[in-house]
Amino acid sequence: MLTVCALLLSAFYVGSKTSADKGRSYYEETGQVVWDIDTQEKVVALTFDDGPHPKNTAKVLDLLAKYNAKATFFIIGANAEKYPDLVQRSYKEGHEIANHTYTHPYNASVTELQDELQQTNELIYSITGFLPELFRPVGGNYNEQMINAVADEGYKVVMWSYHQDTQDWKGPGVNKIVNKVLNGTRPGDVILFHDGGGNRDQTVRALEKILPKLQSQGYKFVTVSELINGNQKEVAK
Ligand SMILES: [Zn+2]
Repeated sequence: MLTVCALLLSAFYVGSKTSADKGRSYYEETGQVVWDIDTQEKVVALTFDDGPHPKNTAKVLDLLAKYNAKATFFIIGANAEKYPDLVQRSYKEGHEIANHTYTHPYNASVTELQDELQQTNELIYSITGFLPELFRPVGGNYNEQMINAVADEGYKVVMWSYHQDTQDWKGPGVNKIVNKVLNGTRPGDVILFHDGGGNRDQTVRALEKILPKLQSQGYKFVTVSELINGNQKEVAK
């Protein structure tokens, strides 16, 4: 009797696993969400949110080209509609285009979010012929229902390394952005910047310092999909 009770209890416990239990390791195991990648290869993914922006994005692209760096742009559909040339240029220069909703809503329902993702993906496809599979939630906010819904549509949710949130959108100063990135760089990092949403001169000036420094340390700058798909070799520990 006791054994049956214990079995029932454990079955109930496992069966009642809530979203709160589904932490990072659960989502990494299912592959539904990515924060960063465990690798020994010196590769990092630079990511830029909220663009395209007529001034900032062009400057970022110039810098990336100078250092032969590839990046991932999580773009807002409404901005892409205004500046399709920048989306096309980003794509042509080998960067990855990813989905960051259409209007950047902070409190969208799952249905509204799905509509926004579809609208933006269709727009990106019409500009580039490329259909994004990566999605970054607005403000990095997600819940189980959202992840399941977007996963069903084939999207992977991309966050960023906890130690690589530059907070550049707050305008903390060029050196703070630079130090945040350089002090913590590890192979497989996903680094968060913003090229849209306001004046991003600090981001651009920080990149001018970060790119040559990391390159001199032997780092390669790859897209998020390249990072996930492991174009880099696994080195035994
Ligand atoms: Zn954003």
